[in-house]
Amino acid sequence: MPSNEPAFVVDLTRSSSLLLPALFLLGLLVGSFLNVVIARVPHGQSIVRPGSRCPRCGHVLSWYENLPLLSWALLRGRCRSCRAPISIRYPAVELLTGLLFLAAAWAFGPGWLLLRALLLVGFLVPLALIDLEHWIVPVGVTVLGTAAGLASAVPLGWERLQESAIGAAAGFLVFWALERVSLLLVVKVIRPPLRALRGALARMSGAEPPEREPDPTEALGAGDKWLLLLVGSYLGWRPLFGVFLLSALQGAVVGSVLLALHGRAGTTAPPPGSPATEDGWTPEATALPFGPWIALAALELGLAGPWLAETFASPLVSLVTGQPWVQP
Ligand SMILES: [Zn+2]
Repeated sequence: MPSNEPAFVVDLTRSSSLLLPALFLLGLLVGSFLNVVIARVPHGQSIVRPGSRCPRCGHVLSWYENLPLLSWALLRGRCRSCRAPISIRYPAVELLTGLLFLAAAWAFGPGWLLLRALLLVGFLVPLALIDLEHWIVPVGVTVLGTAAGLASAVPLGWERLQESAIGAAAGFLVFWALERVSLLLVVKVIRPPLRALRGALARMSGAEPPEREPDPTEALGAGDKWLLLLVGSYLGWRPLFGVFLLSALQGAVVGSVLLALHGRAGTTAPPPGSPATEDGWTPEATALPFGPWIALAALELGLAGPWLAETFASPLVSLVTGQPWVQP
């Protein structure tokens, strides 16, 4: 989030003492709602009705089985009715959202910038997790998030609104163009070493090296441009280069580690019944969903960008964070 303030000072006194715990609790509750979004949006189900129920036995959850973190811990991760295990993803998303809300409160203090940071978290967390599991980016959610990003820039003045609109357009168009270029980049530059590594690992373990698979162009993420539309509307255009750089770097490093450890760069193939598998597409082992890496980089630069630029003031850090370089 570009800041017009000349310097970023970590000054907890400007946040009332209640702000941080209140925002953490709010984050837990919002995270509980985001769990519903993550579970239902990929299947085209309503996020309002019906209320939460056990996917196995249909047991309708009462309010005390819906408390963030607490219920999962008290029920020891099992349905109260049929004892079916409840995924650790539920408390994990709640805790993650709580911590990100806390980080936003710490970074911005009360005000419109905080509200925008919370909106960014609230849209990126479900988008990242849906892409991670289903390898899709729901366009409707990104458009809604972009509208909120633009609308929440209005009270900050014309300049910030302009910055948001240019950021959204630039993010979308650059990634639309990158989809074309990345056909070359990913297929010719990034995939071959990953594939070579995979072949070498297969040979070391005595298995047959995997035969060359056709390059699935769908894996280049038609959804990423929609994600960048959203990110640009919050961060403006300045940090977009850094978002791309960090997401590619972090994705490549973690993807290589996962490939070496698990034989897959991405998490897992989309589950059966996911929209991504409707046309019979399965990602090859070297493919990884890029959306979560864009979301991670956007959150890093959106929440910690001003702090990074202030603490490690240098032209390079300013280039990556998109924040003004304040000479000490
Ligand atoms: Zn149950």
